[in-house]
Amino acid sequence: MQTYTSLIQIQENIKAKKVSCLELVNYYLNRIEQHKNLNAFLEVYKDEALKAAEQLDQKIAQGKAGKLAGMVIGIKDNICYKNHKCSAGSKILEGFTSLYSATVVERLLNEDAIIIGRLNCDEFGMGSSNENSAYGPVLNPLDTTRVSGGSSGGSVAAVCADLCLAALGTDTGGSIRQPSSFCGTVGLKPSYGRVSRWGAIAYASSFDQIGPITKSVEDIAIMMEVMAGKDGFDSTASSKPVPNYSQELGMNKKIKLAYIKECLESKGLDSEIQKQMYAFIENLKKEGHIVEPVSFDLLNFLIPTYYVLTTAEASSNLSRYDGVHYGYRSPNAIDLESTYKRSRTEGFGKEVKRRIMLGTFVLSAGYYDAYYAKAQKVRNLIRIKTNEILSQYDFILTPTTPTTAFKLGEKTTDPLTMYLEDIFTVQAPLAGLPAISLPLGKHSNGLPFGFQLMGSMLQEDTLLNFSHYITRKENLFC
Ligand code: GLN
Repeated sequence: MQTYTSLIQIQENIKAKKVSCLELVNYYLNRIEQHKNLNAFLEVYKDEALKAAEQLDQKIAQGKAGKLAGMVIGIKDNICYKNHKCSAGSKILEGFTSLYSATVVERLLNEDAIIIGRLNCDEFGMGSSNENSAYGPVLNPLDTTRVSGGSSGGSVAAVCADLCLAALGTDTGGSIRQPSSFCGTVGLKPSYGRVSRWGAIAYASSFDQIGPITKSVEDIAIMMEVMAGKDGFDSTASSKPVPNYSQELGMNKKIKLAYIKECLESKGLDSEIQKQMYAFIENLKKEGHIVEPVSFDLLNFLIPTYYVLTTAEASSNLSRYDGVHYGYRSPNAIDLESTYKRSRTEGFGKEVKRRIMLGTFVLSAGYYDAYYAKAQKVRNLIRIKTNEILSQYDFILTPTTPTTAFKLGEKTTDPLTMYLEDIFTVQAPLAGLPAISLPLGKHSNGLPFGFQLMGSMLQEDTLLNFSHYITRKENLFC
């Protein structure tokens, strides 16, 4: 079977009777089997997906199929799906079965997407390489000695290796965009509040967003159309109407872009990525767009602010895993206190424990003002300064990541080096803004890297429109 890169191609071929949903599901099931070594899927819903495909083929024949008919997707292991397991890549939730579905899952199913399985990720979304999963790392399909990126590593690897057409990820500080950069997929972190978080396992609630990972901007647009919008279960979900993103692709106006000088001049940036970014900027200028450097002097504050605030929120969110309410309970516990202590000590991985301790510390009496309250103030400055730039420009352009995918094990002993991976991706969630990674770069080492566009609040429509325009004639990497 041909490799499909967009739902439009699939639906055209379904219409022309060149392919059926059952054939598609069988194709993906075979590929999943052949690529087991990647460790992308934690569970495959084989029988269910085959049954859903059969039913959908009948619906299609009756002309009653939904908008996403033919879209076979995988979901990250921190998004709930009723009567299915969900472990957030953690031993502490091993064996936990969801009692309800995330709003996004219901909406995708209502439009006839087929869910083929549950995808590996860093434990509770904490990581940049997928090496923090209790179920082992995900390998990069383009070079299996390298990491897939994280925390939605299983999601991007599955799309990259053509194990499903699209996937859901979550992004708190870059977890959709950073692995997308490493594996050559398209990944969108929506504006805070554009997509309901109901049913997503919380890491840092004022940052977390669910978003799509695909091979094309068109598919991001159609998924967002279905997923976004108000939700009675999530009071932070915006009630602003959802545009018809996929109908509005097709841009013919000139754009004004800013690029952050300090990002392109930062020491840790790979020199080839820097060169290609400058070349890309020159190209855009030749096409008549305005691209100008701006200064963002808070660059060095992004990572510390992000890690103080997200660990604080995580320490509170993860307090519910106590050996009593959900999941793992230590068999060695003898009373209530040792149930808490031992279950949490044995159930959480090293990085999650590090972050719970750091978060508890920055929230503790005596340190609260110096760290947590201060970081909130800096977050506000970051938000103001970023929005100031976006009041003058349509988008902010940066590389998505400072490097291409690194080797497995290369950064696991040094958490600070690992945290610096997020240098370009944390600004958008700190400011609540939408950002997309587009697979436009190709390094001489053979690996892809992403260019990131950040847009204004709830303006996914213009962001997707421009993304569609700049990826139109390029060959997407994956
Ligand atoms: N790598 C970042 C972290 O470890 C981002 C993770 C995410 O977006 N979930 O926190």
